[in-house]
Amino acid sequence: MNYKIPQEVKDISETLSKAGFENFLVGGCVRDLLLGREPKDWDITTIATPEEIQKVFPDSFYENDFGTVGVKTETTGIVEVTPYRLESEYSDARHPDKVTWANKIEDDLARRDFTMNAIALNIETGEIIDPFEGRKDIEKKVIRTVGKPEERFGEDALRMLRALRFVSELSFVLDSETQSAIGEGANLLKKISKERIRDEFVKIIMSDNPAIALDMAARLSLLKYISSEFEQGIGVEQNKAHAYTVWEHLLRSLNHAAAKKFPLHVRVAALFHDIAKPHTKRMVNDQATFYGHEVVGARLTRKALEDLRFPKDLIEKTTKLVRWHMFFSDTEQITLSAVRRMVRNVGPELVWDLMNTRAADRIGTGRPKETPYRLRKYHSMIEQVMRDPISVKQLVVNGESIMKLTGATPGPHIGFILEILLAEVLDEPKRNDKSYLESRVKELYDLDPQELERVGREARAKNESEEEKEIEKIKGEYGVK
Ligand code: ATP
Ligand code: MG
Repeated sequence: MNYKIPQEVKDISETLSKAGFENFLVGGCVRDLLLGREPKDWDITTIATPEEIQKVFPDSFYENDFGTVGVKTETTGIVEVTPYRLESEYSDARHPDKVTWANKIEDDLARRDFTMNAIALNIETGEIIDPFEGRKDIEKKVIRTVGKPEERFGEDALRMLRALRFVSELSFVLDSETQSAIGEGANLLKKISKERIRDEFVKIIMSDNPAIALDMAARLSLLKYISSEFEQGIGVEQNKAHAYTVWEHLLRSLNHAAAKKFPLHVRVAALFHDIAKPHTKRMVNDQATFYGHEVVGARLTRKALEDLRFPKDLIEKTTKLVRWHMFFSDTEQITLSAVRRMVRNVGPELVWDLMNTRAADRIGTGRPKETPYRLRKYHSMIEQVMRDPISVKQLVVNGESIMKLTGATPGPHIGFILEILLAEVLDEPKRNDKSYLESRVKELYDLDPQELERVGREARAKNESEEEKEIEKIKGEYGVK
């Protein structure tokens, strides 16, 4: 069979062979070649030691304890070249106690997680070494551990989550013994570092069908090691407008985001947006309400993502999307000032992501897509207000000019004045005019300090949350969401 292998990878293999070192392509790339998928990265394993590999490739680098030497290429990034390895005892369910080099490819394959990942391909001869019948499993689309699943999961519990990740990525099924061993060994995952769990979680989320792995994680009691918050949503019924439980709804929303190839932070927001519904559920006249779930949800999302050691930037974006996902967008009724406040709340850089989160939410509820007409109208309203001032920074007056104008000293009263001016400008952008705002500054400065503080606080609350009141009003009228 002819495999599509980049020339530079072939060259590395040939260079090793010429220096007298047997070597093979191995792991995920061989699996993907056999499946006709494009490999993400290229791994070569060889009988050479790290020192020998470095001698053969003087530009390579070796910065870890596992023997992996990185060889740079022009077109395929870093190719990892690793000596045949043996792994001895795993006393902690996550790290081999000792890594030693092996002198047979078969020994290296035996330490690998699943049969489909334990196949070696000799690039020059096309010979395949497949002692665990990985090819058969690939044909049947089955994920099966190399050796006894309980033992292999006992060595490294992350393999359980990797198994589910491959279910989502490859549309394979779990072999039944492998599956029951996961069910029984789930609690071993508590020993695994959050970073490793996060990396597999991200791969699940970025796959085309993440719901299937996460749903299995729920059934096999693995979910709580990703986030304990999810489990509470399983089986929580919603109200008449929702056909699905909270958990099903979140999975459906995520799958829509995946189908649309939305970026990671939007997918994570789709998965988390209603996470607080179980906490905020109240029955009012036989109807479930979830008042404030987006506020609590933003907090829980932040906590869950911090626990998983996600980068700060992703945490900020995702929590904002969760916090503001409940905006009202009925183009028949919405005002420009409400759209302006929405943009102000989530920030102009996240507006379109928020729209996408909302679309995922909507489809995840089982509702049809928004009509193109209404969507277009809403989009044009957003574009229109994006040109308007939406933050204190964009007002034509600032703290300094206010102090100059009135002779006021610095202090919170300046902030209150700015907040009041912003509230007026959010209602009517034309008011962002120097002479109008300056006359308002003088009037406001003349107010009794306590009165100024009261009006200032009111303006701030309005600027931040008028949306919510509107939503509540509409929900009352239509009895939805
Ligand atoms: P991907 O397509 O995401 O790169 P992959 O199968 O290549 O998938 P990697 O994490 O890159 O996964 O690992 C490369 C190979 O190393 C795997 O195919 C497998 O043979 C082996 N491997 C990785 N992690 C483990 C593990 N925890 N236990 C045993 N073998 C592992
Ligand atoms: Mg790989």
